[in-house]
Amino acid sequence: MKRKRIAVIERELCNPKLTGYACMKACPVNRTGKDCITVWMDKKPIINEELCIGCGICQKKCFRNAIDIVNLPEQLQEEPIHRYGRNAFMLFRLPIPQKNAVIGLIGPNGVGKSTVLNIFSGKIKPNTGLLESDVPWDEIIKRFRGTELQEYLKRLSKKEIRVGYKPQHVDLIPKMYRGRAADLLKKTDENGMLEETVKRLGISGILEKNVGSLSGGELQLFAIAAVLLKDADFYFFDEPSSYLDVYERMLAAKEIRRLAEKAVVMVVEHDLAVADYLADYVHILYGRPGAFGVVSRPYAVRVGINTYLEGFIREENMRFRAESIKFDITPKRFEKTALFLEFPGFEKKFEGFELKTEGGELYKGEIIGILGPNATGKTTFIKMLSGELEPDKTTGDSILGSLKLSCKPQRLLLKKEQEAMTLREFLKTESEKSFSKEGKSIMRILGLEKLLERTMGSLSGGELQSAMITAALTKPCDLMLLDEPSAFLDVEQRLRVARLLRTITESKEIPCFVVDHDLQFIDVLSDRIMLFEGEQGVRGFGNSPAHLKNGMNRFLKALNMTFRRDPQTGRPRANKPGSQKDSEQKEKGEYYYMG
Ligand code: ADP
Ligand code: SF4
Repeated sequence: MKRKRIAVIERELCNPKLTGYACMKACPVNRTGKDCITVWMDKKPIINEELCIGCGICQKKCFRNAIDIVNLPEQLQEEPIHRYGRNAFMLFRLPIPQKNAVIGLIGPNGVGKSTVLNIFSGKIKPNTGLLESDVPWDEIIKRFRGTELQEYLKRLSKKEIRVGYKPQHVDLIPKMYRGRAADLLKKTDENGMLEETVKRLGISGILEKNVGSLSGGELQLFAIAAVLLKDADFYFFDEPSSYLDVYERMLAAKEIRRLAEKAVVMVVEHDLAVADYLADYVHILYGRPGAFGVVSRPYAVRVGINTYLEGFIREENMRFRAESIKFDITPKRFEKTALFLEFPGFEKKFEGFELKTEGGELYKGEIIGILGPNATGKTTFIKMLSGELEPDKTTGDSILGSLKLSCKPQRLLLKKEQEAMTLREFLKTESEKSFSKEGKSIMRILGLEKLLERTMGSLSGGELQSAMITAALTKPCDLMLLDEPSAFLDVEQRLRVARLLRTITESKEIPCFVVDHDLQFIDVLSDRIMLFEGEQGVRGFGNSPAHLKNGMNRFLKALNMTFRRDPQTGRPRANKPGSQKDSEQKEKGEYYYMG
């Protein structure tokens, strides 16, 4: 029988001692004497989906927000490929492990990318939604007869698949592995490619360092290198781009693409410009986060990304998002609002690092995107601007007062005592205003309300990022700096953050700086661009804030890359080096084509 709806209970959140089984008491089906909601062995409720009429009363009664009653799309005729348990998440369909191609998985967090990984790596055996019996492999394989999946699953059932996996949340790596980067890489070097891989990724400088002391970008490249060195049949990279600058993103993409010559390669990537460059095919994942997920058929990368943004799969007549996502291609004109402050040029020297920045003007309510390689002094500049750090020299005669800075740091590092805190406690200690009316609205937009009783240590990368952003946005301040807020957020969350930042900076009438390497995000967000140049970790130069187009152009010129606009969605797309468009744009000096 086809399933119409599913009931999902988040067991960690469910606490009948607090709620007194309010759901059971209120369920109209129970009230007619039937056993729709009953008590399970763990003393928590369980919902019989066949008896449930989908009224949603239990969901409303549960103040812990543990229940989700979801209607499944009519187009889903088949049984799932896997369900984790009773009233738990289920996944429909699987991606196709094509050879000689990089397969991208795009979609929101929580709709099954890790479940796909667990199945493809053999960590869980799919149960086709049958929870009582062990489904034989033959049965499962039969469902995929005639596709590349059949062969793959056969090998998986014989335990012949070796796996290379780059986890999303690289900040957790130093907790698991200690020691010198070189020693750890040597251990994973199964194909004798250590020297070459280190050279190609440009990471010889990290070899002698301890993993715990690596910067975010170094840690990401280290994690990618460790996986590249494995001799595997299936490689899975979960967000390889976070913490990397644009140049490093492209470098890593090139190395990952190389693997596809010999193995199945899947990549989860929310930086769409990178996904576009990296993948040959994409599967869209959609559904209801935490409740169910569906894997679409494969699409050629451009069509797939556009379909994802459209929110509508034509072939299946399936609308999975109410609105389509479009990018404004009319060139933004920077409009000066009231002057906030004029700032001088700065100079600062640390041991082994030297920074010079130009002076400029800041306007009330504007967002300045900061672009540039890692370790060229972006954060140092902001600290000098706010008065947190004393410059060695200043040019010009403008005098800066001491400004209160609210900062979202790049890394999502928690102190030991913070790990055991609930999200509610964390937000309260980080920002006294986090539970104000505005704070609560930010939490709702970023989906944090449901997580308030969870401990900080149990949050995913995206959830932790949203928590840190909320804390930074609610702190009273004169100046905001968000360092890589896009990391670990999915595409829709990134756009939500962009809109939030716009509203908040305008209402507070203060300037906001955003350092980020997702060009699409910076493009949507910024009024002006401040470009940092120089040699990573040696010397940096910060240019005065410039018009978005000029800043982007100069930035891409230094990288020798050109971007065009996708005519359908307006999103920026990287041109293939040496292609006709690439040469044409370079000739005209239009590295960033605005349309
Ligand atoms: P994504 O990787 O896209 O963020 P996941 O595949 O990790 O999504 O998870 C989808 C949903 O499945 C999540 O809401 C998660 O709570 C649930 N889930 C994952 N693993 C388990 C498990 N072992 N038991 C029950 N639910 C799980
Ligand atoms: Fe009962 Fe309605 Fe909840 Fe279904 S949705 S379990 S019928 S209260």
